[in-house]
Amino acid sequence: MTTANPLSWLSEQLESWRNAGTYQRLRILESPCEPVSRVDGREVINLASNNYLGLANHPRLVEAARDYAARYGAGSGAVRTISGTMDIHMELERRIAAFKKVEACVVFQSGFTANAGTVSAILGPEDHIVSDALNHASIIDGCRLSRAKIHVFPHRDTAAAEALLRGLADKPGRKLLITDGVFSMDGDIAPLPALVEIAERHGAIMMIDDAHSSGVLGGNGRGTVDHYNLHGRVDIQVGTLSKAIGALGGYVCGRRDLIEYLYHRARPFLFSTSHPPAVVGACMAAFDILESEPERIEELWENTRHFKAALRDAGFDTGDSETPITPIIVGEARTAHEFSRRLFENGLWATGIGYPTVPEGRARIRTIVTATHSMELLDGAVEILARVAREMGILKA
Ligand code: PMP
Repeated sequence: MTTANPLSWLSEQLESWRNAGTYQRLRILESPCEPVSRVDGREVINLASNNYLGLANHPRLVEAARDYAARYGAGSGAVRTISGTMDIHMELERRIAAFKKVEACVVFQSGFTANAGTVSAILGPEDHIVSDALNHASIIDGCRLSRAKIHVFPHRDTAAAEALLRGLADKPGRKLLITDGVFSMDGDIAPLPALVEIAERHGAIMMIDDAHSSGVLGGNGRGTVDHYNLHGRVDIQVGTLSKAIGALGGYVCGRRDLIEYLYHRARPFLFSTSHPPAVVGACMAAFDILESEPERIEELWENTRHFKAALRDAGFDTGDSETPITPIIVGEARTAHEFSRRLFENGLWATGIGYPTVPEGRARIRTIVTATHSMELLDGAVEILARVAREMGILKA
């Protein structure tokens, strides 16, 4: 007897993506994440990672991972609230809190769960969220899970954010003003000083997602709050351990009461197993490096300035980026994906990104330089980008 496949619509959906040129086959990394990586059987310049400081394959992180695994085993054995809190988990949280100059910190399995778990834990249906239009998906999901009312303001439009909060002044419930620190698809920085003042004027909780600012902005990579010297004025700072820190995880920093509340109510903390010891060890080593080798961050910014200037000289539209994330905007999603495919064939790995990750008509190649790319490699990348763009008519021949 043949039974109908209740998921047959998936094949049709996949076929429609193939026809639209937006179907994406996963590219397979066959080496560590490095400036030149082995991918799908070839050596390519890697501008596709979030490995900002080159820590993902740093010998000290690898060694610490090995050492922690040898001492504590491969897994933690349980969620944090049952029996999965090891002394090394507590040590990492103390370490991050001191680094960020806050009272306390809680580590989650990922930046995604840190955002989604925190927003959904602190707000409920009677509350209000005022959120930047380009905030990350994990913030959006957290907002939805909280069942609070969501009010979106146009990207970085502080006057619109304030107008929304003013309109909520007489409404009952808590108010949360939330923004990414560095926006992941555009590389621009949140207008945090203005947002903090607005939150203070309207009694709103101020929360920032520093996934792309941790290890990148501020002294020793302390993030956007440090960059703008707003210590003590942002109630909730989320960061990731998965990008510049080179391993995996997310964290929330703030007052001790916030962290203890999240220990009791954040669902990923309560219901999902804690980090394996190797990950904790790698993170500890990464914070050592952030504090002892700030020159890595300077190298990241030197490379960023060099690469951006070369792209602009070549005639590319790089949007409003102010950070190592540099989009190359080409318009249609089909063009972006085709551009990415041809770049790869020419030895350069940079991801094509289209709707719904970015608005329609703003599809792009997204590039991220790291501290460990050489200038020669970056010049080589720009040469490939310009050559392929001319072949495709993205740049004038
Ligand atoms: N926030 C932003 C802005 C991000 O770009 C990402 C990663 N794509 C995350 C949160 C999630 O971080 P993680 O990869 O650690 O889950």
